[in-house]
Amino acid sequence: MSARDEQRVSIARRHLVDLLAEPGGVLPGGIVERMMRCGKPGCRCKADPPQLHGPYIQWGYSKRRKRFTRWLTAEQAERYRPEVERGRRLTELLVQLDEAEIRRVERAEGWGT
Ligand SMILES: [Zn+2]
Repeated sequence: MSARDEQRVSIARRHLVDLLAEPGGVLPGGIVERMMRCGKPGCRCKADPPQLHGPYIQWGYSKRRKRFTRWLTAEQAERYRPEVERGRRLTELLVQLDEAEIRRVERAEGWGT
C-alpha cells in the first residue's frame, strides 16, 4: 500500500470528521425556488404572457428511491439552508472517501489499472 494512497484516505476521513463536528444539522436534499400556476380560471398566471405566483420555496429529498418535497417559509429556508449545504458537502466528501478507498485497495492488490 502506498503512503500517498493512505494519505488520501486519511485526508478524506479528516474532512468528514471536521464536517460532522460542526454544530447544526446535516440535511439531505436541496432547496429550490419555484414559480407556480394556480387552479383559478382567468387568473393572471394563465394570461399571455403569464404572471406566475411565487416564488415559493421548496425543500426536496429522496428516501428509498421516493422523492419528497416540502414547502418552506422564508424563515424556514434561511434556518435550514446551512444544514442543506452541509448535507451537500457530506455527499461530496463520501464520494471522495469512496474514491480514495477504492484506489488504495485496487493498488494494494494490483487490480485494475
Ligand atoms: Zn393563478
